[in-house]
Amino acid sequence: MGRGDHRKCTCCLELFRPDPRKRRHQFYCSASGCRAASKTASQARWRAKPENQSYFRGAVNVARVQAWRARHGVRNAHVATGGPSLSTSLANRSAVAAS
Ligand SMILES: [Zn+2]
Repeated sequence: MGRGDHRKCTCCLELFRPDPRKRRHQFYCSASGCRAASKTASQARWRAKPENQSYFRGAVNVARVQAWRARHGVRNAHVATGGPSLSTSLANRSAVAAS
């Protein structure tokens, strides 16, 4: 490699040497904090795309998350302790709003 094969990390601003095969895509050095920042930024970029905005929505994902919460003992933050499921409380709310 010739000159100019160093790049400033977007996160810590230190110079690093990107992999020659990935230099078009590599803007973060390999420090663990910078890799985490890179991952966060790339996920935010992905989520911002219109075709991905509803990727985690829908009944399948609601069921998946509810199952995960049940396995991990996490209560739904939107529902009072011991209360009905979120969908039931939403239905009640719209019924109240309609009357
Ligand atoms: Zn860095």
